[in-house]
Amino acid sequence: MTDAGVLHVKGRVLAGPDDVRDELWVVDGRISYDRPVRPGLDVTTVDGWALPGLVDAHCHVGLDTHGPVPAETAEKQALTDRDAGTLLLRDAGSPSDTRWVDDREDLPRIIRAGRHIARTRRYIRNYAHEIEPEDLVAYVAQEARRGDGWVKLVGDWIDRGTGDLGACWPRDAVEAAIGEAHRLGARVTAHCFAEDSLRDLVEAGIDCIEHATGLTDDLIPLFAERGVAIVPTLVNIATFPDLAAGGEQKFPRWSAHMRRLYDRRYDTVRSAYDAGIPVYVGTDAGGSLAHGLVAGEVAELVRAGIPPVEAVSATAWGARKWLGRPGLEEGAPADLVVYGADPRADVGVLGSPRRIVLRGRVVG
Ligand SMILES: [Zn+2]
Repeated sequence: MTDAGVLHVKGRVLAGPDDVRDELWVVDGRISYDRPVRPGLDVTTVDGWALPGLVDAHCHVGLDTHGPVPAETAEKQALTDRDAGTLLLRDAGSPSDTRWVDDREDLPRIIRAGRHIARTRRYIRNYAHEIEPEDLVAYVAQEARRGDGWVKLVGDWIDRGTGDLGACWPRDAVEAAIGEAHRLGARVTAHCFAEDSLRDLVEAGIDCIEHATGLTDDLIPLFAERGVAIVPTLVNIATFPDLAAGGEQKFPRWSAHMRRLYDRRYDTVRSAYDAGIPVYVGTDAGGSLAHGLVAGEVAELVRAGIPPVEAVSATAWGARKWLGRPGLEEGAPADLVVYGADPRADVGVLGSPRRIVLRGRVVG
């Protein structure tokens, strides 16, 4: 497709879970449902099932196992996400400055949460600002200004004193910090594996919980009532048994706890979904996990018992709406993915996109 050309997507355009159209046009990088009338247009046609560009709502660009990475590595990460059809990433914390990605027409769009904010020595080395509760409000304000409408806290982590997972912040500190973020127009999310940090965070007004493996029957109604979303990252939770085995000798209580959370992970997600808690797709790529795993995460949500069309929505229509970004509406930027079959019928097709269109250009 050339700059002057037009892309014609035909077959089944899935503009919403129940909003199926026969075709759309990409004109000047934007979606149109009207056939353009300019004479002599160079038209490229793509056939198949179109979805809005997929969302990975928990992804880290510019980060790997050891901390920040050079720009060339961050670029490869972003390209891998793009080639998996993920065209909108919510970056759930990165120590790298990835603003340059915004100027690259060929890379996915990123919604940043600034850098992780953790308690001193209570997170992976080189990832976070490691601070004490008295500084939490100031750091949250700083990252709210640096990010794109989100701030990321580390809500719990192993406490070497007790040898188990434990909440990182006192209630009054998170209340003040979440209040400050909201005052600055940012939403707040937190990494939480265990049970004990969740009530304080939700009652303090948090907007989302990452992983949320510690959700229990008494907490689920509270999340549902407050509309607090979860991003289960099941492809990451799959690594818990290995983590538990690695820490067994030094921290047996922590290992046993991680195994329990792992064992009930599908029930936890299913109960949350059944109670009406919004669930979104996130892979946690970039920490220790590879990028481009979005199809695997959708399949995991289906395995947990979420209906396929809802699991697709959690990376497509629903996720985009939650993040305040358009889908396949008239006039929206043309970020879309075309598949050879209906992903609502078999989410497995998400693993092999036929065509990827970013900012109106075919990029894959
Ligand atoms: Zn993460």
